[in-house]
Amino acid sequence: MSTFNIAQAVTWATSELLPHSESAKLDSEVLLLHVIDKNRTYLFTWPEAELSAIELQRFEECIARRVSGEPVAHITGQREFWSLPLKVNNSTLIPRPDTETLVEHVLTLNMPNDAQVLDLGTGTGAIALALASEYPAWQITALDASADAVALAKSNQTQLGFDNVSILQSDWFSAIAEQKFDLIVSNPPYIDRADHHLSEGDVRFEPLSALVADDNGYADIFHIIRTAKLHLNSGGYLLLEHGFEQADKIQQFFAEMAYINILTIKDMAGCDRVTLAVLP
Ligand code: GLN
Repeated sequence: MSTFNIAQAVTWATSELLPHSESAKLDSEVLLLHVIDKNRTYLFTWPEAELSAIELQRFEECIARRVSGEPVAHITGQREFWSLPLKVNNSTLIPRPDTETLVEHVLTLNMPNDAQVLDLGTGTGAIALALASEYPAWQITALDASADAVALAKSNQTQLGFDNVSILQSDWFSAIAEQKFDLIVSNPPYIDRADHHLSEGDVRFEPLSALVADDNGYADIFHIIRTAKLHLNSGGYLLLEHGFEQADKIQQFFAEMAYINILTIKDMAGCDRVTLAVLP
């Protein structure tokens, strides 16, 4: 492969990745654009542009990493969420498009202009920073139990320049004393330890602590629902992402805990993905 243009490089990489990735072509394009440091339109305007020897070598290295299973976002070091470019690494979950369902729903809520908002288990900071981008007047607190996650979220905040987010290390609510919020959001770990998906694909490169919870995946969600009662203002909302088969049990638990207006929202794929409720 001495000289390769962009179109040829994508074709070659796609065939390399086909046995290893369900999104071989897209992965190839994203990795190539990362190597040549261009945006997406370049693929279509300059398909015949030739790669330099060093670009080709770097691209081959990226493709080899993807063949070995590494997620594209770990290879590029970045993932877009809510149109924000976020740095990612192996200390947190890679932000998923599904989680934008939660952010979208927040936009429909009737919130005070200067709302106090809490994001539990912020990881890269994705949800907190997406909300900060929409609501500069909100005071947003973002917590994570992992020091590495807190460092990553802070670095994303600095890069994006939102100054209305405070990011702190905290095991769920442990670092917040008496403070109450108008809105609490979280994408907590919710996968059952026994789930065979944990040994397949990109999740193998993400921390189990961000994916897996005890009690068939419900332990952290139930802890949050229980404890949020002490930290929500009257009329405040709790929104939780969860697995597509968990909505019934979560609705039931919200009801047992005397929340009202319980509602489940579907993601883009039509799966139950977020349940919210109001503290009366
Ligand atoms: N939705 C993610 C997955 O299935 C898990 C996210 C989470 O546990 N919070 O890979």
